[in-house]
Amino acid sequence: MSIRIAIVTGAARGIGLATTKLFLENDWRVAMVDRDEPELQVASENLPGTISIHCDVSVPEMVQEMVSTVLATFGRIDALINNAGVAVFEPLEKTDFDIWRTIMSTNLDGVFLCTQATIPALKESQGAIVNIASISALRASTLRVAYGTSKAAVVHLTKQLAIELGDYGVRVNCVSPGPVKTRLAEAVHSPEIIKAYYDGIPLNRSATEQDIAEAVVFLCSTKASYITGQMLAVDGGFDASGIGLPALRASRARFT
Ligand code: NAD
Repeated sequence: MSIRIAIVTGAARGIGLATTKLFLENDWRVAMVDRDEPELQVASENLPGTISIHCDVSVPEMVQEMVSTVLATFGRIDALINNAGVAVFEPLEKTDFDIWRTIMSTNLDGVFLCTQATIPALKESQGAIVNIASISALRASTLRVAYGTSKAAVVHLTKQLAIELGDYGVRVNCVSPGPVKTRLAEAVHSPEIIKAYYDGIPLNRSATEQDIAEAVVFLCSTKASYITGQMLAVDGGFDASGIGLPALRASRARFT
């Protein structure tokens, strides 16, 4: 089999960087894409098998140029990981239109633009797309009017794309992480909120970046060759759990 090529957006740190490293361990080559050029340079420096491309995924011209660079360098694209994302947590009254557009332009427009630009190459390779949504797409909470809505749209966009691209052998899936300790999460979650999360998560901990990367790389592999149109929550059971988990834990402790 020829060497497989992945594009990972938001690859300078966090989940995107962990996913890049796991692809490399599995003998893929990776185009690392990020709008934070200095951090991207540092991240890619010691990673043979990668190229780094400065690109804001919400800017159509930059996305087109990024895809041209990947094709000029590697000649093919086998997977697109739409991971770049931003979070601003505010109540509705404080979510002004600028905040709304900031969230939508990266989290939703970026997924649309990168997907559309890579489709000809993915049809040729019968490749795969994995979109990174969030548990906030599935469970509504306070302060997420823009973020949660953008991620719910990504889940639906995943299904739209899977249906439309199935005829070409292109698979499209989505991973919804629960809380992962990255810079994005640290910016919006206080220690109290993190503790409250643990109380509601059956596995009682945050995800590691590796936990998320494993699901992404699996969904791009031949082991997942009959999986498309799916949303996989990598969330320690958060989406599956009902109410009252802390109380149930306490009562179980009394009976054991
Ligand atoms: P992070 O902030 O550590 O990394 C995100 C990367 O994306 C950064 O390097 C940033 O520069 C880049 N980026 C942001 N906007 C961009 C743009 N317009 N163009 C190009 N690059 C851009 O965040 P993370 O926690 O690793 O998040 C990765 C994805 O996982 C995001 O889509 C996020 O919404 C999602 N997610 C994270 C969590 C969590 O708890 N960390 C939970 C659920 C979902």
